[in-house]
Amino acid sequence: MQFEDSRDFAARLDAADPIAKYREQFNFPLIRGGRRPVYLVGNSLGLQPKLAALYVEQEMQKWKDYGVEGFFHADRPWLSLARQCAAGFAELTGALQSEVVAMNTLTVNLHLLMASFYRPTAERFKIVIESQAFPSDRYAAASQIRMHGCDPESGLVEWAPRDGETQLRIDDLAAILEAEGDSVALLLLPGVQYYTGQVIDMAAVCALGRKHGCRVGLDLAHGVGNVELALHDWAPDFAAWCTYKYLNAGPGAIGGAFVAERHCQPGNLQQLHGWWGHDEATRFKMSKTFTPAAGAELWQLSTPPVLSLTPVIASMQLFREVGLPALREKSKLLTGYLDWLVDTRFGDRIGTITPEDARGCQLSLVVKDRTINGKALFNRLCELNVTPDWREPDVIRVAPVPLYNSFDDVFEFAERLSLAL
Ligand SMILES: *Cc1c(COP(=O)(O)O)cnc(C)c1O
Repeated sequence: MQFEDSRDFAARLDAADPIAKYREQFNFPLIRGGRRPVYLVGNSLGLQPKLAALYVEQEMQKWKDYGVEGFFHADRPWLSLARQCAAGFAELTGALQSEVVAMNTLTVNLHLLMASFYRPTAERFKIVIESQAFPSDRYAAASQIRMHGCDPESGLVEWAPRDGETQLRIDDLAAILEAEGDSVALLLLPGVQYYTGQVIDMAAVCALGRKHGCRVGLDLAHGVGNVELALHDWAPDFAAWCTYKYLNAGPGAIGGAFVAERHCQPGNLQQLHGWWGHDEATRFKMSKTFTPAAGAELWQLSTPPVLSLTPVIASMQLFREVGLPALREKSKLLTGYLDWLVDTRFGDRIGTITPEDARGCQLSLVVKDRTINGKALFNRLCELNVTPDWREPDVIRVAPVPLYNSFDDVFEFAERLSLAL
């Protein structure tokens, strides 16, 4: 598409946007200094769907009116609340419903899944992460290594961009595995790199893991609800994600997990168990023996936290209605327009480290002009009621989200960036 630098043009794109109406289904932050919010951090905390607010209120009412009966009560019975997310999760991640489950939060799930899938031996004990891994993933991997009596110093292997580059190359991961694959127990890698916004070739990562006999776990925090995923076909051993970023389920909402079908077989008891992983039909008989649930639900431990799970239900309802293909189509145009505007207006001063051919919503901007202080620029944007985020040492992340951001938001961002500069 031939883009134009005008508010009129942005308005025309909005008028032609088949999913523009979903913007109205979200609550936006406050107007400040007479300026409406330009919210571009759906990659950090998605906005509140009005449906989520409504549903949570309804659950409070149910609790009030029915007490424990709420577990069985008509709409959204608490007993099966986690399962009510499965169809949505399966669609978004390209998995079977039996391979996904809503439970816990992301880092907790990484640990629980590593309890099953990181089983180091004297020969095979290393975990490969990427050099700019999200801190929580790094801490989780290092502590797992330590818990198994190994030393993270030798146990943690980093896949890094080459000197002077910012993107991860799959060839370099292949080279690491050629060299030391026999000692690698697990690849713990992101679907979308949180700092640069690079979409990793997840199919290739999974194939490399298989080739070298390593287990593969994907962290989809920045992938789910953002880009196409095909977990069943790629077949990593496990994956996990949070729901408060692109899925808009609210701060600390219940996350998701995937376990490949081949591990969800009767007889596989390599999990930490709790009563919620017991077969539902006989769970409340309170037996001394554990009867495993089928599928990924076997990894559940506890009674689902209804108030943090209900917004996930609302989110899945919205995503299933809109559909990822429509979102992706708009997202490419929306982020493409942002990229084009930034380049056209500020190309001499501001660049991006996000690869054009492997990205979702997010653009990671860097100030090239040494006379401009990036952090000061970021602060000035915030004063103008723009919400991007700042990542040390020099990145401003902006993520126009197709579910609720408009082309006018993107244009307005460029306007305020002009002002800020
Ligand atoms: C957001 C994010 C997390 C956060 O983990 P929580 O357990 O939900 O706090 C972890 N890893 C990655 C890659 C993330 O992007």
